[in-house]
Amino acid sequence: MDTTALLHERFPAIAATLPFARLGVAPTPVRELTGLGRNSLWCKDDSRYGHGGWGGNKVRKLEWLLPEARRRGVRTVFTVGATGTNWGLAAALYGREFGIDTVLALIDQPEDEHVRQQLDRLRRSGATLHFTRSKPRTIAAAPWLMLRHSRSLKPPYYLPAGGSSPIGVLGYVEAALELAAQVAAGDLPEPRHIVTAVGSGGTVAGLALGCALAGLRSHVLGVVVNDTLPLGVRDLTGLAGRAAIVLRKRGARFEPPTLRLDTTRAYLGAGYGHPTPEAAGATDVAASAGLQLEPVYTAKAFAAVLSAELDGPVLFLNTYGPRT
Ligand SMILES: *Cc1c(COP(=O)(O)O)cnc(C)c1O
Repeated sequence: MDTTALLHERFPAIAATLPFARLGVAPTPVRELTGLGRNSLWCKDDSRYGHGGWGGNKVRKLEWLLPEARRRGVRTVFTVGATGTNWGLAAALYGREFGIDTVLALIDQPEDEHVRQQLDRLRRSGATLHFTRSKPRTIAAAPWLMLRHSRSLKPPYYLPAGGSSPIGVLGYVEAALELAAQVAAGDLPEPRHIVTAVGSGGTVAGLALGCALAGLRSHVLGVVVNDTLPLGVRDLTGLAGRAAIVLRKRGARFEPPTLRLDTTRAYLGAGYGHPTPEAAGATDVAASAGLQLEPVYTAKAFAAVLSAELDGPVLFLNTYGPRT
């Protein structure tokens, strides 16, 4: 298994303190999307990132989180998500490869075919599921669940929703360094805007921090698709700042980075998991360029790509992975 990240090459001091395990094939491809009525529109396709038929953006967070769990000597991680959680499933499937069990507290979300399928996969993944249904009940139950799943007095490693802890955020700091190398190699122009969904915020926070560290001047536009977490610019900047602190504490040296980061709530519709006509339209348009989107995250982000006033080059980060 490849355990060297671009971040380790950039900051050799963290190689020993922030372990990494590569779970996909890097760099992920970039290509221009033509014929969609937008000049210089590009896609970085993280949808194929991962292995074993399960991919997407959560895998990049697990590349740091699972080795960190091992470093801490824990065999169980405890995390939370909605019943359709891509994150919980990715944690369960990849955790297994590290000999780590996943315990999930699940919050209800509007049930549709996608959510039912996802629950099926969660049940088959070997994860331990607790249906805590609402956010307050999940918060109330969490200490008991942590206690119940302790082993030899050692509580599970707690991971927040979406894996967006400061260490999880490093996955997209790494992806931004990867993007900077692709720009330097001439694979694509330096994006003026990078657009992607904000679910739990780690992806956007990591991209913004990574772009700053890599010297890219790109602005990151986070398209909020989740109204259950406070995810404004200040929250995301705070999360990126905590990731920067982890890097520093573990030995990296750099000047305080200037983050170029914005969010929009204009594509959220009625809330997390609720479809919108703009997202449905964007899904059809994307399909004509050979890009497959799902309704919860990527379709809303791509709706912003198509209709927000953004000068090119615009880069859409596709976060949706294969699901088999
Ligand atoms: C989780 C997820 C996102 C959002 O990423 P965050 O880091 O949680 O903001 C985007 N797209 C897909 C397909 C996801 O599963």
